[in-house]
Amino acid sequence: MSGSITIVLLGTGSPLPDPHRAGPSTLVQGAGVNLLVDAGRGVVMRLSAAGVLPVMLNAVLLTHLHSDHICDLNDVITTHWVMTSSPTPLAIYGPPGTRQVVDKLLEMLEPDVGYRLAHHNDLTYEPAPVVNEVIPGDVFAVGGFQVRVGETDHRPVAPTVAYRVEIDATSVVLAGDGVPCATLDELLVGATAYVQTAIREDLVKLVPSARFNDILDYHSSVAQAADSAQRAQVATLILTHYVPAPALGQYDEWRGLATAFTGQLILGDDLTSVTIESA
Ligand SMILES: [Zn+2]
Ligand SMILES: [Zn+2]
Repeated sequence: MSGSITIVLLGTGSPLPDPHRAGPSTLVQGAGVNLLVDAGRGVVMRLSAAGVLPVMLNAVLLTHLHSDHICDLNDVITTHWVMTSSPTPLAIYGPPGTRQVVDKLLEMLEPDVGYRLAHHNDLTYEPAPVVNEVIPGDVFAVGGFQVRVGETDHRPVAPTVAYRVEIDATSVVLAGDGVPCATLDELLVGATAYVQTAIREDLVKLVPSARFNDILDYHSSVAQAADSAQRAQVATLILTHYVPAPALGQYDEWRGLATAFTGQLILGDDLTSVTIESA
């Protein structure tokens, strides 16, 4: 048995507000397990559209602590908590710094938690996420999934990590933001699928804004993502977190920049879903 994994692009947007794209977050499903990777803008709405409520999540995996990847984590925590009928820990994995972020989110939520505890007689416990800070090389299990942590290069943002999620012979690497690097290459070798956030270098360069152009040096271009995928011989490359967001009919232009990759290339709107299985 080779196992099968379904990947749902919950949010394909970026920090730039977009009425049609939620912020970066990806759902990984297999063997009855739901993993949420990153928790960007609108994540709970997109999760519900994918048929998954926060209480159905087995774990949340954070690639890094940039706001666009965690800005709705508080909604995941609150909605998970208020929909449980008994204390149910929410497992959150992330790089060092994650514990502090979650502790401060809980601090922010203190008034709300107080209101709800005072109002609902049957709600007698506070939200209690369990944070596991991870470093490259760590391996852990969530249900039937094996997860391996690898280092990414999103400098000056650090630490940042990618996750390789495996079940039987099928695996997907969720790389988050960053430029190609040896440690990501190593994590990718032989993976069935590779989810990479990607930007259109050619279009970003046309925008006369120094702050906007700063994004060029720490995100993979489409061509760089294609090169990484080809080097590792992954079967499927999935691009997300598009900057700028592709307009109607523009996906073909994006595809034209990824010709170095000879496998299956997936691009799409929010809720694009692909099921992979190793050959
Ligand atoms: Zn980032
Ligand atoms: Zn980002």
